[in-house]
Amino acid sequence: MKLREYEAKKVLKDAGIPVPAGFLIRAADELAPHLDALGDAIVVKAQVDVGGRGKAGGILMADRTTAVATARDLFSREIKGFPVKEVLAEQRLDIRKEYYLSITVDRSAKQPLILFSDAGGVEIETTAQENPGAIRRVRALPLLRDLPPFMLRELAGKAPKEVMPVINKLYRVFADRDALLAEINPLVVTPQGVFAADAKIIVDDNALARQGIAVNRDLSEREREAEKHGFSYVELGGTIGVIGNGAGLTMSTLDLIEYYGGKAANFLDVGGGAESERVKNAVRLVASVPSVNVIVVNLLGGITKCDEVAKGIIAAGISQKVIVRLAGTNEAEGRRLLSENGYEMLDTMDLVVKKAVEVAA
Ligand code: GDP
Ligand code: MG
Repeated sequence: MKLREYEAKKVLKDAGIPVPAGFLIRAADELAPHLDALGDAIVVKAQVDVGGRGKAGGILMADRTTAVATARDLFSREIKGFPVKEVLAEQRLDIRKEYYLSITVDRSAKQPLILFSDAGGVEIETTAQENPGAIRRVRALPLLRDLPPFMLRELAGKAPKEVMPVINKLYRVFADRDALLAEINPLVVTPQGVFAADAKIIVDDNALARQGIAVNRDLSEREREAEKHGFSYVELGGTIGVIGNGAGLTMSTLDLIEYYGGKAANFLDVGGGAESERVKNAVRLVASVPSVNVIVVNLLGGITKCDEVAKGIIAAGISQKVIVRLAGTNEAEGRRLLSENGYEMLDTMDLVVKKAVEVAA
């Protein structure tokens, strides 16, 4: 789960990394009482869950006299389609130089990977493409509590020496917070010292309970519902709903939809041995996606019984067309139930998908 800038900055501050003075507001008028603490130069920053806010108009410069009006302007905007509901008002930094610093997981090396670049402020993907030599990379031993000084020197290069303790502290944050990513972009140099001007922390979803985070707000309501039922579920934005059992069968259904020129709305794996109640929940969940106009059910009966699947589909009673391919255990009974209730069944996965793509078009 991604922490918002103000949450991530609180984490950095607690870890001893300097961050600018700032206040979170939910309406422009809430800013007035904080003006004294913020001083003359102010920046207001939209707390929306997208990157590149600066270029998208989500970061506005102001001074003491214009700050409230500027905040009001920001609250009236949409940034990359997201309404602005929270704004971080901060003391504006007098930036002399911007660096990039991040710690992530190098999955193949099974080690934390620390990146540092003198080309900060710019998105790292852009630097990696246009100027890969400007990024320094170091892998750390996961068991180390502190990074050895030679590593810090290698990363920081000619940057001011205050940068080195920041790298080490961010490394501790990364470990202590079960992070998949801890990023400061830009890490800035000002006449008052070094500051984290922006912050991004992504906490490993598997560690949310340990981190005391009760709800993963990055999940949509439907994804949360799916989690509750124990379905593997991903939304994909198309028009054809997909329900399969087993990740392989479900993935190949998606591939086939793409092959025939359709667009899948989701991936839903009901798992093995699904009973009718479970199938019913799966069908209703997929049918609740507004863009779905047809649903493909592609199930192989092993421990899953085809008659249970049929009962689940019928019990769901949804308005969209459901096209079914069932094979295996209790297939005859499953087919009988479905045809009695007017459901379309086809013998192969190929035929089912072709038909669904036609209906969706
Ligand atoms: P992002 O665009 O979502 O990554 O938001 P950032 O917080 O990284 O801000 C983008 C850019 O705005 C930074 O790289 C800075 O150049 C500029 N910026 C942000 N905060 C300040 C500030 O306090 N003072 C000044 N002068 N520029 C800032
Ligand atoms: Mg940034």
